[in-house]
Amino acid sequence: MLGNAAPYPQPDRPCSGYLLRAGAASVWVDAGPGSLAELLRHTSLSSLDAVWLSHLHLDHIGDLLNAYYALAYGELPAREVPLPVYAPAGLADRLTGFFGSGFTNDVLELRPLSDGHQFELGDLTLLSRSVDHGGPEAYALRASSPGHALVYSGDCTPCPALDALAHDADLLLCEANDPVANPFHHTPQQAADLARRSGTRQLVLTHVGPLLTPAAAVAQAVFDGPTTHAEIGTTFTF
Ligand SMILES: [Zn+2]
Repeated sequence: MLGNAAPYPQPDRPCSGYLLRAGAASVWVDAGPGSLAELLRHTSLSSLDAVWLSHLHLDHIGDLLNAYYALAYGELPAREVPLPVYAPAGLADRLTGFFGSGFTNDVLELRPLSDGHQFELGDLTLLSRSVDHGGPEAYALRASSPGHALVYSGDCTPCPALDALAHDADLLLCEANDPVANPFHHTPQQAADLARRSGTRQLVLTHVGPLLTPAAAVAQAVFDGPTTHAEIGTTFTF
């Protein structure tokens, strides 16, 4: 767990970011502000196989800008091939808008997501489904290897695509926000309801906004399986 705050980073709490490892594969899932420095405690950008971005809100992509700088201007050892970045198609315009004509695809290789998009890294399969975040193109992720599955909600309101994705997951990493903050998110209880409906074995809450504390979110998520908060630095192994 590299980051869990929303919609802006807090002291010792970067925004959404996760390092997913399965076999030899490693993927940086969401690149919220502050999450790159946490990622670098565990691995290097040169060692990553891919980046996967749920949607283009700043609190999920901000540190991709810093990753670009790191890769373009000096990470050692340098990558031998561009870093694949799976994200909504609008990312290219965002990066060009920020970096201007200096942006090139030499270090980041942008690969657009779509509903049902799937790719493999060794035994790891990453399946993306379109979810309802109130307008912006947004995806949830099911990452599976033989006998194991992790599902990440990204940001969204409860929707059938997320239910289908979450079926029988070992771990559901789900956002949980105060309903006053934004209707296009899960409340803690909605996250717990999804975990129960889908037969998830373990629920981890993340993206808890400033109107809730992580402890309150966990307390409000009534689910008969283990329920915890995505504390920075925690590793879940299954
Ligand atoms: Zn969002």
